[in-house]
Amino acid sequence: MSAKIEVKQLKKSYGSNQVLKGIDLTVQDNEVVVMIGPSGSGKSTFLRTLNKLEEPTSGSIVVDGHDLVDPKTDINHVREKIGMVFQHFNLFNNLTVGENVMLAPTELNKMNKEEAEFTAKELLKEVGLEDKFDAKPASLSGGQKQRVAIARTLAMKPDMILFDEPTSALDPEMVGDVLAVMKALAKEGMTMIVVTHEMGFAKEVADRVVFMADGYIMEEGTPEQIFGNPQNSRTQEFLDKVL
Ligand code: ADP
Ligand code: MG
Repeated sequence: MSAKIEVKQLKKSYGSNQVLKGIDLTVQDNEVVVMIGPSGSGKSTFLRTLNKLEEPTSGSIVVDGHDLVDPKTDINHVREKIGMVFQHFNLFNNLTVGENVMLAPTELNKMNKEEAEFTAKELLKEVGLEDKFDAKPASLSGGQKQRVAIARTLAMKPDMILFDEPTSALDPEMVGDVLAVMKALAKEGMTMIVVTHEMGFAKEVADRVVFMADGYIMEEGTPEQIFGNPQNSRTQEFLDKVL
C-alpha cells in the first residue's frame, strides 16, 4: 500500500474563524474514504485544500508525493491528477455533452481531437449516457448532468477523485444512478474521498468512514465500527439524526 494523500495537522482559518483545527488523514491507493458530518464542520474546506483551491493556514499536505505547501510545487500538474466533482455540475451549457467531456484533455494538449472524442464516447457509455454525446446539457436531468460531470473528470485520467456532496442537489429518483457510477469507480480501484449524506452508500462502498465536526476528525473507522458501534458522543448524536 502507498499513501495517495497525507495530511498532517492541517489548520485553516478565515479571519478569526478557525474552520479546520488540526486534521490528520492518510488515504491509501485504491481506498474509498467517505466523510460525513454536520453542515459547517469543514468538509468542503478540507476537500478544497487538497487541490489548493484553498490555501492552508498551517500543516502539511502531500498528494501523490507532491508537497502542496512547497511553493515550488507545480500545482497545475498535481490538479490534473485530482478529479473533483461538486454538488453543482458546472457544465458549459453552450457546448454539447461530448464537447464538455473533451474540453480539458484537448485544451491541455493531453489528447488530440480524435482521441478525445473516442475517450468521451467510451466514458459516456460507462456512465450510461452513450446516446447523449450531441445533446446540450440543458436537455438533461440533474442526475444525467452529474454523470456527465463525472465523465468529464474521468477524461483527465485522474489518480483520485474528490466528491463533494455529488447527489445533494438531485431529485431523489436521480440519486441512485449517480451513486451506481461512483460505486463502479470504487470497484475499479479508484482512490476516492466522498463527502455525502448518503449513509447507504457509506455503509456499502466505504473502506473507511470519517466523521467530522467542528473542524476536527472526531472519529474514523470501518463502516461497521462507525455505524454499528460509534465511540464518540458527537458521532452517535449525528447518526441518530440522519439514520
Ligand atoms: P461543510 O462542507 O462541512 O458544510 P464548509 O467547509 O463549507 O463546511 O464550511 C465550514 C465553515 O467555514 C463555515 O463556518 C463557513 O461559513 C466557513 N467558510 C467556508 N468557506 C469560506 C470562505 N471562503 N470564507 C469565509 N468562511 C468560509
Ligand atoms: Mg460542504
